[in-house]
Amino acid sequence: MQFRDQWKHDTTMGVVKHVYLVVVGCGQRETYENYKLMVEAMVNSRGVEKTLWHGTTRKCSVGEPGVTELCRTQNCGVCGIVRTSFSLAYYKKNTGWGRFGRGLYTSEVSSKAASYSKSLKNSPLTAMFLATVVIGRTQTLHRNSPNRIRPKHGYNSVHGQPGGAGKLNYEEYVVYTDDAIVPSYLVMYE
Ligand SMILES: [Zn+2]
Repeated sequence: MQFRDQWKHDTTMGVVKHVYLVVVGCGQRETYENYKLMVEAMVNSRGVEKTLWHGTTRKCSVGEPGVTELCRTQNCGVCGIVRTSFSLAYYKKNTGWGRFGRGLYTSEVSSKAASYSKSLKNSPLTAMFLATVVIGRTQTLHRNSPNRIRPKHGYNSVHGQPGGAGKLNYEEYVVYTDDAIVPSYLVMYE
């Protein structure tokens, strides 16, 4: 499974306990599909999409057994993303900065996303999203680029890769528009 195979960190591997399908509003789905068609046409390929991990903060007990009601707590990343999908409006709220600028960050590496997943202290469970992301043509970067607001002209996303002179340990993808990403599954692991 994508969770286990992509756990690359030296920490104890999480064990998936519950998986919830996230159903986004049809308006959001349509916006995403339209964006995907546009990128497919631009890069002349159907392979523009990836399923990637995203970790965020969970301030309530949503995702615990039997709890599917979303909270209204400010900065509960999990409920915010389930309710209104991903939004650049929350950029830096969880992390404080962005290595590749003002974007929405995901990774193939589940353990990297896990390092951004923060949960209630009294819960054994931690939440992480599997998101569907239009990466299109990716601009590869090794060095930090925190003032960036878009990829280079002609590209649709940034793929941060370890190596070179950079300080990145694990790869990550960054998209710079809300339209390029929707949550697919909420994964609860222990
Ligand atoms: Zn919540």
